[in-house]
Amino acid sequence: MSAGVELDRIEKTYGATTTLRAATLDVKPGEFMTLVGPSGCGKSTLLRIIAGLLPQTSGEVHIDGASIDHLPPRERDIAMVFQSYALYPHMSVAENVATPLKVRRLSRMARLPALGRLLPGQARTRREITDEVRRVADLVEIGPLLERKPAALSGGQRQRVALARAIIRDPRVFLMDEPLSNLDARLRVTMRAEITALHRRLGATFIYVTHDQTEAMTMSSRVAVMMDGTIIQCSTPQGLYEAPEDLRVARFIGSPEINVVASDTVAGWEGGNTRLGQLLQRPLHIAFRPEAVRLSAESAAQTDMLHLSCHIERTERLGHDVLLFLRVLADGAGVTARIPAADFARLDAPGGVLTASLHPADLLAFGPDGKRVALPGLAAATNRGLSHVG
Ligand code: ADP
Ligand code: MG
Repeated sequence: MSAGVELDRIEKTYGATTTLRAATLDVKPGEFMTLVGPSGCGKSTLLRIIAGLLPQTSGEVHIDGASIDHLPPRERDIAMVFQSYALYPHMSVAENVATPLKVRRLSRMARLPALGRLLPGQARTRREITDEVRRVADLVEIGPLLERKPAALSGGQRQRVALARAIIRDPRVFLMDEPLSNLDARLRVTMRAEITALHRRLGATFIYVTHDQTEAMTMSSRVAVMMDGTIIQCSTPQGLYEAPEDLRVARFIGSPEINVVASDTVAGWEGGNTRLGQLLQRPLHIAFRPEAVRLSAESAAQTDMLHLSCHIERTERLGHDVLLFLRVLADGAGVTARIPAADFARLDAPGGVLTASLHPADLLAFGPDGKRVALPGLAAATNRGLSHVG
């Protein structure tokens, strides 16, 4: 049975340092929720508090509406998968996977290898455990590896064993702390897909931790962005990308990073309309995604767009797309553009100079405090996610 998890103003302090401050989150039953943020922002600390491995300083953890703060880890019905797989090296894969069930279903005496077999009534339980191990091993495709020791497995195979050992417990909630970060790039991509498929098959609640925004964006139903010990925004991957509420979220989500320019610089760019000119009078951070930068002759001819004469400093070919690192001639601002390779081939840039164009509707504005502000009067896209503007 999957369960909802609510975090209510979780705080964690170590002496004078505060690691978590008012971390609040509502994870729905069966949801794939990812906590993403830079290293050191408190992700592991929060996960360990949910698992009961670390006490919080204040705040509450609820599962399906009931506080679990008084429960020790094993009574929380939560399974955790770590970055280091934490397998028992002297045990076979089968024994590693079976351990949680043996601990739960067999007495201490019955778990002793030689003696256990002699005790009455244990044979059936052992058979059931063996069947269960096979079923779970098939689920993560480690069936042929059951007799091996962890030392004889690749990193990806060890990670599957760790997953199997979590799945066999049939927990209400799965917690995963950077489970893919020890794998090479190719395997990480494969395992990403496998973990999301596993989530669909199990229908369980997953809380997944990563510092990798691509992992977060590709795997999750919702993503909670953490910075400095607090959750600053929780939304769908698309919601975070299109409607970041905080400049730190805008910068963290998306690769290459979003362009950010001061409003007085943008005010000096050619074109746009008077409404935009007025809006740019106050100090703002103006942000726009690299794919919002248009480089075609058609865009350069549009009067309602902003135009900036730029020098191409560097290009990076990404296969389907090309990144262009531009320098605005008039003010020296750096702008990254992303265009399809086919468009790049047709680009007209004599002497490495071209006109970059921006639609005002593609601009996001953030106040000096980094919080998103509306640009009233501009197209809806600019103000997406800001409920208080019409
Ligand atoms: P993340 O998983 O996001 O990388 P962590 O939760 O591991 O971050 O750590 C968050 C912060 O808490 C870090 O700055 C870390 O140094 C600090 N921290 C973790 N454990 C302790 C501890 N036992 N004593 C003091 N500070 C700690
Ligand atoms: Mg961590």
